[in-house]
Amino acid sequence: MTSDFRSAGHDAVELLADYLDGLPARSVWTPMPEAARGALLDAPLPERGTELTTLVKTVGETVLPYPMGNGHPRFFGWVNAAPAPAGVLGALAGAAMNPSSAGGDHADVHLERTVVRWLAELVGFPHPPGGGLLTSGASMATIVALGAARNRAAARLGVDVRQDGVAALPPLVGYVSAETHSCVRKAAELLGIGSRNLKVVATDAEGRLDPAALRSQLDADRAAGLVPFLVVGSAGTVNTGAIDDLAALADVCERSAEGIWFHVDGAYGAFGRLDPVSAPRYAGLERADSLALDPHKWLGVPVDCGCVLVRDAEQLRGTFSLVPAYLRDEDAGSLGWFSEYGIEQTRPFRSLKVWATIAAAGREGIVRDISRCCTLARTLGQLVEQEPDLELLAPVETSIVAFRYRPAGERALSEERLQQVNAALAVAVQQRGRAFVTGTVLAGHEAVRACLLNAATTEDDLRILLDEVLAAGAALGTEL
Ligand SMILES: *Cc1c(COP(=O)(O)O)cnc(C)c1O
Repeated sequence: MTSDFRSAGHDAVELLADYLDGLPARSVWTPMPEAARGALLDAPLPERGTELTTLVKTVGETVLPYPMGNGHPRFFGWVNAAPAPAGVLGALAGAAMNPSSAGGDHADVHLERTVVRWLAELVGFPHPPGGGLLTSGASMATIVALGAARNRAAARLGVDVRQDGVAALPPLVGYVSAETHSCVRKAAELLGIGSRNLKVVATDAEGRLDPAALRSQLDADRAAGLVPFLVVGSAGTVNTGAIDDLAALADVCERSAEGIWFHVDGAYGAFGRLDPVSAPRYAGLERADSLALDPHKWLGVPVDCGCVLVRDAEQLRGTFSLVPAYLRDEDAGSLGWFSEYGIEQTRPFRSLKVWATIAAAGREGIVRDISRCCTLARTLGQLVEQEPDLELLAPVETSIVAFRYRPAGERALSEERLQQVNAALAVAVQQRGRAFVTGTVLAGHEAVRACLLNAATTEDDLRILLDEVLAAGAALGTEL
């Protein structure tokens, strides 16, 4: 069996190295041919087993030719990174050991303590022992953080929400902006807060939550008998990469009589703090009660890997621990198990791929790559501004560039036609195969947004992206 593993493993590494090397020369993404899609969808349950070397060959023929596209230097869609090769090997080694990182005295558990500390150090967040854990992604990190926020608020109101449930609580309200990621709403719904109790505070022209509007909304809600418990700031919104005024939001929370919990969503953008130009905009991030990160985004750790960091580790343990107190006493002073700080019990060995990714690049390499992405994004913003047929829709704050096709002069389109063309633009660019962007709506405008996460992207790639957008836009402008 292990000799089968050894020879198939060698084949697999060759196959994957060829795959990774070959990515830049191929289409970023192509729709799957009907037959190839059908072969995957309709595959019957195999009755008999197959040799591993044959399986590797099958993967090379039926799976690897049809990637999502992230990995290619001209993939600018959503927030999906190319995998760091070190992380790919880390994932393989982690699977070979296959522990449950719930807790105990084995390498994976200790490594997770270390990489969580490293992640906190990278983004400049305080890290008390036990103050965080790896999660499946930022959505899960947000559920964990908001669970702790809800339970702290409940405790201050004298309610044991773990025992009595949310029915025992007065209406708790949280504050977000229209640019806040949907995972916050999902978490609020799951935790029994209700999305109606997430108040959407106005943003300024740059898409940042307006602290003055927050203060007046808080006054109004207090007067109406509601209990404010949470403010969510974004350290890099998904639409434009905008960073809220985190220091101002921290002030509001710290001064509140209710002890409002300040959560920062840094899933996409927190690592942008490593770019010296962008760094000052992150001031105040370190004052949050909790921070959600996604090493599987900008750091390129292979999916899945999110991380939640908190100032007060006991808030997490108090929310999630289900180990009877008499067991905890046996080892007084210890941090206990990771499974006491979050939702998962059996937990995958995520830390090895994080460790490998960070160790291979070093802090210096990570800073270089992040700064390069931010520089490329600023360049792309300038190129968009220089292009008469394109309109930049938001200042470039981190590594996301939001813009739309808007032909000038005699080819100018009505606002209605602009909306139609731009709504179809991202998919039209994707289908041409040379670059991949995704769409969004900004201040009512249909738009495309390019997210730069890949340090292998070149300025030529940026030019190709814009040429593709212009060509697709022109074709749509005449077709529609
Ligand atoms: C991706 C993202 C999320 C959700 O994270 P997942 O890892 O997909 O669960 C939340 N917030 C922001 C800003 C994001 O970019």
